[in-house]
Amino acid sequence: MSIKVIIAGFKGKMGQAAYKMVTEDPELTLVGLLDPFTAEKEVAGVPVFNAKEELTGLQADVWIDFTTPKVAYENTRFALENSFAPVVGTTGFTHDQIEELTELSRQKGLGGLIAPNFALGAVLLMQFAAQAAKYFPDVEIIELHHDNKKDAPSGTAIKTAELISHVRTSKQQGAADEEESLAGARGAMFDGMRIHSVRLPGLVAHQEVIFGSQGEGLTLRHDSYDRISFMTGVNLGIKEVVKRSELVYGLEHLL
Ligand code: NAP
Repeated sequence: MSIKVIIAGFKGKMGQAAYKMVTEDPELTLVGLLDPFTAEKEVAGVPVFNAKEELTGLQADVWIDFTTPKVAYENTRFALENSFAPVVGTTGFTHDQIEELTELSRQKGLGGLIAPNFALGAVLLMQFAAQAAKYFPDVEIIELHHDNKKDAPSGTAIKTAELISHVRTSKQQGAADEEESLAGARGAMFDGMRIHSVRLPGLVAHQEVIFGSQGEGLTLRHDSYDRISFMTGVNLGIKEVVKRSELVYGLEHLL
């Protein structure tokens, strides 16, 4: 049976990649598109809505969300309340929001996925980083994205830092008496680790995790050169969430 899918943010860069992936997969049927600003009423026979409330009562199984950090929490809540299993790539969720949404999914008995990164290589990079941090506790993260990205640091960088902080003893890095002569020079701080955000035209989504130790260094790097790199994960997410009864944070939980 075909899985009925809604795409929120379908006019965006990721939304367009998701549109192509969904319409090319015979196991998926697109039943609704959401964009608050478009004047289009339908795209290839699929209705377009300008407000999420207009989707209430639509027969759909999955809500794909590639919108903006400002609306993603409310969208995901709305999806769960209306029995659409969310597959969310939009970043910028707080820890508390993820907890709240997970609890709501349990109450509704609905599967769901919030994934800061849908690229399989990025998921592997995060796992390798957590493995390496057991032996190399001194680490800095550099994430690099296109210059239209709204949130910083990236959701992937935060998730990587969280995974590392689960396996290493909390420590403050750098010299105890270090000083910034220009504010922000040492980057953002997460549990003693530094995260640096680069924004440049031409980039898509990239991350380096750099470990340093006595006389040696280790660098892990992942590059998404094209948004197609995220679509295998989104497709897998859609097909998995409909079988589950709880929302998870991170694609690795569905692999
Ligand atoms: P984008 O090109 O700016 O697309 C976002 C789209 O959402 C825009 O078309 C925007 O419309 C629309 N939008 C704004 N408010 C909305 C609302 N209330 N309802 C529905 N749509 C709304 O950004 P993008 O590059 O596609 O990225 C989207 C999100 O995905 C970002 O948070 C980004 O960090 C994340 N991302 C995740 C992954 C992953 O693997 N998880 C990978 C890449 C990106 P306007 O432009 O008219 O405001």
